[in-house]
Amino acid sequence: MKLKKQVTVCGAAIFCVAVFSLYLMLDRVQHDPTRHQSGGNFPRSQISVLQNRIEQLEQLLEENHEIISHIKDSDCQFALGGRGQSPDLQMLAVYSLLPFDNQDGGVWKQGFDITYEPNEWDTEPLQVFVVPHSHNDPGWIKTFDKYYYDQTQHILNSMVLKMQEDPRRRFIWSEISFFSKWWDNISAQKRAAVRRLVGNGQLEMVTGGWVMPDEANSHYFAMIDQLIEGHQWLEKNIGVTPRSGWAVDPFGHSSTMPYLLKRSNLTGMLIQRVHYAIKKHFAATQNLEFMWRQTWDPEASTDIFCHMMPFYSYDVPHTCGPDPKICCQFDFKRLPGGRINCPWKVPPRAITDANVAERAQLLLDQYRKKSKLYRSKVLLVPLGDDFRYDKPQEWDAQFLNYQRIFDFLNSQPNLHVQAQFGTLSDYFDALYKKVGIVPGMKPPGFPVLSGDFFSYADREDHYWTGYYTSRPFYKSLDRVLEAHLRGAEILYSLALAHARRAGADGRYPLTDYALLSNARRNLGLFQHHDAITGTAKEAVAVDYGARLLHSLTNLKRVIINAAHYLVLGDKDTYRHDPAAPFLSTDDARPNQDSLPERTVVKLDASPRFLVVFNPLEQERLCVVPVLVDSPHVRVLSEEGQPLPSQLSAHWGAATSMVPDVYQVSVLARLPALGLRVLQLHKSFDGHATLKSSVRLYLHGRDLPVHKQEAVPVNVFPATADDFCLENQHLQACFSGRSGLLQSIRRAGEEREHRVSSEFLVYGTRTSKDKSGAYLFLPDGEAKPYAPKDLPVVRVTEGPLFSEVASYYQHVQTVVRLYNVPGVEGLSLDVSCLVDIRDHINKELSLRFSTDIESDNTFFTDLNGFQIQPRRYQQKLPLQANFYPMPTMAYIQDTQSRLTLHTAQALGVSSLSSGQLEVILDRRLMQDDNRGLGQGLKDNKRTCNRFRLLLERRTTANKVQDGRPISFPSLLSHITSMHLNAEALVMPVAQEQPAPPALRSFMPLSTTLPCDFHILNLRMLQAEQDDSLPSAEAALILHRKGFDCSLEAKNLGFNCTTSQGKLALGSLFRGLELGSLQPTSLTLMYPLAAASNSTNIRLDPMEIATFRIHLG
Ligand SMILES: [Zn+2]
Repeated sequence: MKLKKQVTVCGAAIFCVAVFSLYLMLDRVQHDPTRHQSGGNFPRSQISVLQNRIEQLEQLLEENHEIISHIKDSDCQFALGGRGQSPDLQMLAVYSLLPFDNQDGGVWKQGFDITYEPNEWDTEPLQVFVVPHSHNDPGWIKTFDKYYYDQTQHILNSMVLKMQEDPRRRFIWSEISFFSKWWDNISAQKRAAVRRLVGNGQLEMVTGGWVMPDEANSHYFAMIDQLIEGHQWLEKNIGVTPRSGWAVDPFGHSSTMPYLLKRSNLTGMLIQRVHYAIKKHFAATQNLEFMWRQTWDPEASTDIFCHMMPFYSYDVPHTCGPDPKICCQFDFKRLPGGRINCPWKVPPRAITDANVAERAQLLLDQYRKKSKLYRSKVLLVPLGDDFRYDKPQEWDAQFLNYQRIFDFLNSQPNLHVQAQFGTLSDYFDALYKKVGIVPGMKPPGFPVLSGDFFSYADREDHYWTGYYTSRPFYKSLDRVLEAHLRGAEILYSLALAHARRAGADGRYPLTDYALLSNARRNLGLFQHHDAITGTAKEAVAVDYGARLLHSLTNLKRVIINAAHYLVLGDKDTYRHDPAAPFLSTDDARPNQDSLPERTVVKLDASPRFLVVFNPLEQERLCVVPVLVDSPHVRVLSEEGQPLPSQLSAHWGAATSMVPDVYQVSVLARLPALGLRVLQLHKSFDGHATLKSSVRLYLHGRDLPVHKQEAVPVNVFPATADDFCLENQHLQACFSGRSGLLQSIRRAGEEREHRVSSEFLVYGTRTSKDKSGAYLFLPDGEAKPYAPKDLPVVRVTEGPLFSEVASYYQHVQTVVRLYNVPGVEGLSLDVSCLVDIRDHINKELSLRFSTDIESDNTFFTDLNGFQIQPRRYQQKLPLQANFYPMPTMAYIQDTQSRLTLHTAQALGVSSLSSGQLEVILDRRLMQDDNRGLGQGLKDNKRTCNRFRLLLERRTTANKVQDGRPISFPSLLSHITSMHLNAEALVMPVAQEQPAPPALRSFMPLSTTLPCDFHILNLRMLQAEQDDSLPSAEAALILHRKGFDCSLEAKNLGFNCTTSQGKLALGSLFRGLELGSLQPTSLTLMYPLAAASNSTNIRLDPMEIATFRIHLG
């Protein structure tokens, strides 16, 4: 152990010194004035110097890799797993088992007849908890604000009033976004009343997140962030910590959620939207309540008690028992004369002395039948619907009538029932008590389940798999905002800590905290299950978009302000001027639905400075693109050494360059979470920047070509030979005709892998039920996308990257191969600019077909947190086989794995062996009858971005691959992070007369282990003032689980693994860790006493939060 550690330390040290010396040496070589340019399109001598330089870097990285792989072995035990018991219910196995035959079950259409013996409760009475609830969507048919003014505020106002009338009344609430808005508008007196109701257990805050998030498209960063935001609000304003989770409306359930709730110290949770066939199966086997365990957890540390609702919906007709015709009669909002009625044609009747016996008996029969589906004699009966209880009359109708029923039932000993209003936790507590366990423990005899509940169908073949892709523009904007929020949180925390330490916090814009706080809330709001899902009305989508853009702009400001302080050589000169920011941004979005427009940096006699932020916690060697107004440009490091850079054209269309704009791409090494200063010089030195060359294939089309002198272009009017791009690691070959990828060959391998891509189109059915925002109901298999013309294909070749751009009518795709050492050069960068606004009822997909023998198995991620194996099910319709892909999907055989990484959530499937297919956008002209009342017709020009990674597997075997668990490789994790957290370029504003001395900022004193991810460093809110930070921050760390059976050669990591150990005390350079308190995920509970040690240890896959003081 000790020896290994020394080897690591020495190895890392040698490596760093070597890389640095190599740089210095090569920089000198490149600067050598005796070298000459060879002329022609390519300055060959420069390329060979660069090539040499890259090769030597490669070699060093490879040597370093020996050390990495040596250490990694001991961290590989985890991925092999195999310890502990297997769960009783494995969802992948359940799917294989079920016939999905959808037989008519009678009154419970999707179930079966339930019978019971009248004496079953004689020894142990039935205990019924009726849980009043109101489901408030923070935006759907109306915007968040409109719902608040029209409904939610009235619901909460009457809640305070009506709950106080009878201490037996109960209510639960889950959306803190609404609750906090209401709180801001009510009197101190009303607030006190609310605190009393919470305190005496009448009102329970369930889950307590900012929203009830979508679980398919949301990323775990945002899921956690909105949970923290809600919990922090609750703690500060009401002093309460949620104990139970409530999720009645998300369209399918992810196993990431139980993990997050468990780590937030919740002990029970409830889910509702699960495939009707699974509900029926679990009901028949009394498995609707289970301990939900993570697939990767060999013990039971992630177990959380979960209640699954058995019937079709969470409304009253589907919650009292199996017969909706009867249950509807106990929804007293539907009493005759009201605005809504019972579609089963039997109206409710108000409860009177005359009818109470008959009514109570009828309801009890439903309760008893429902109870037969569960193992305990405690029964949960939700009582509510969307935006319920907004009028005092409704409170009276429900609460008075139910109380009369309860009073009657409870007065009849022969009925053996005890019925009452309850909160969700009242129900869980009674159940735990009855089975004799402490809350959170496993009740004896209850099953353990692992896996997830995608994809969801509520009836027939109506699979809710369309929303995995609906409105991809906003799904992409969401991810961009997430990366900016994380970056802004971390930089703000660091800048503030440094400023406080230097006593400069008086001059620092502390109030940027309000911008951060607002961005957290807007991002949180968008995680709602009608927001990121793309299932809200058009006007509501615009409202979300405007909020996202507003926060994106603000976060750029927070980042700029922090970066300004952190890169200043002399902090004493720091002055914050909100009217004249020191740095500007590299792009701007004019509208909420426009793609970013990149800033052009104007070069003149004096150098222009750039600050580049790397939001990753790993050092990164990457190509940073900058637009400039002149081809005569030279890029220097902070110290004045020239950096390798490539000049290319900036294209406005397939065959025309934008006049007087050029892209200079700089190869720069960016410090972990750091800021690198670069200089741009106008230079007429002929070989300052390496040029790229362009080939244009017009395929017989008569198109004008607008060139600029600085970038050579060869036009091929008709010919279309196939061609390849190549770097040191791989060769990618393309069709000359289509411009699309055909194959990939890895360096040093004989075998060429077929990896051919194509675009396809799905139509929708001619029958009544058609695809819409939620549902995917295709009219059969996809047909090849057949545009009128062959695309213009433009091939750019250069020393740092080469790319193929293909211009189709509805999609422009660019496949880029970086020719740089390390992570960037190991995968293909793929982007698709999609515009299907002239389509009618079409969905555009991108399919990769390969020779990988994946059979029927593929893998998709859940929330970017974990991987869930999937099986293509022949017995299910095509649309049932689509799954959410928030960050990646892969297929594999024992030799290879092909991973598609994505920068936005989209729907994915593998419809036959060797295939991977992703839906890029969908345009649907009609509603799909789930309440939205609209089609999906507001498509935008959308840029979907991917990374395609082909890896060789070394020690894989079929037995292992058959297990319901899988992990990405470390390379895949890092590739995903590169894709999702791009480097941010900030030019020093032009107006600066004489820029002060700038210094790159390197916040970390050591390299973080490769498998550690700093999920967030989030300043906490000040006690008094919401718009100011406190002295403490939350540090949230995630240790990733990874698969070592993939070849790890030439990876170019500069990190190692550490068996989960991390010394936090010395992590932040120039700052002291004043205190370190491990807490529950959302900071509600301290875990263990604060110790003096700042060394921590994390198990693979675990996320841990620490309350820290940095200064
Ligand atoms: Zn909802």
